[in-house]
Amino acid sequence: VIAIGYTHYYCRPRVLDASRFRDFVADARIIVAALTGQGLQLAGPDGSGEPIIKSNLISLNGKTNCGHAPNSAIVVPWPSADASGIADPGQDAITGKWFAGALLSSRQCTGDCSYESFIIERIFKPEGWEKPKDGLYFAFCKTAFRPYDLSVISILIAFKKHFGDAVRVSSDGTDQQWFDGKLPCSKLLDYGFEFQINDSGELVPKAADVSLDIAGGSKGVV
Ligand SMILES: [Zn+2]
Repeated sequence: VIAIGYTHYYCRPRVLDASRFRDFVADARIIVAALTGQGLQLAGPDGSGEPIIKSNLISLNGKTNCGHAPNSAIVVPWPSADASGIADPGQDAITGKWFAGALLSSRQCTGDCSYESFIIERIFKPEGWEKPKDGLYFAFCKTAFRPYDLSVISILIAFKKHFGDAVRVSSDGTDQQWFDGKLPCSKLLDYGFEFQINDSGELVPKAADVSLDIAGGSKGVV
């Protein structure tokens, strides 16, 4: 079993505010409906059925039986530096290799659009071994740059928008890949481009990132 792969991360308090979660869920529903309408194949957490988006839970994945052609060359995929978008069916998005597998120029299916389930519960139920750090529990979703990655990052942008400093979102991807999530958020919900993935891989408001740099003084302000 290979544990590495393209992943997004988030840290959240055990209980998320109910009214904010309601607004967040409403936005997630709009995102999922729009992306599904554009042909993105989304499913429930196990890759079958419908995405679950309800008042206390968001739980989805790509669709296992998506009907896309198998591509066995896509092993432990990782985006190339300028990777973006979703590959057309039949297109080969492999542009090279990284140390563990294939470099992709676009999100691409291998013949199975599912990978890890993406789950955000309003009330997190930690396992015995899960301890909060600074009051926040750690969660992640390895999407392996499958097409449903687009829905995951778009929903994480909505998550950050609604919960602000109460949560933290970070990613193996760069701002280049996250542009693809900001775009639907901006078109559908009128926010998104005020965030960026900073040098540490964290999704932060652009203005706040600048003030942090000034306060820290470590990067130098010209
Ligand atoms: Zn597929």
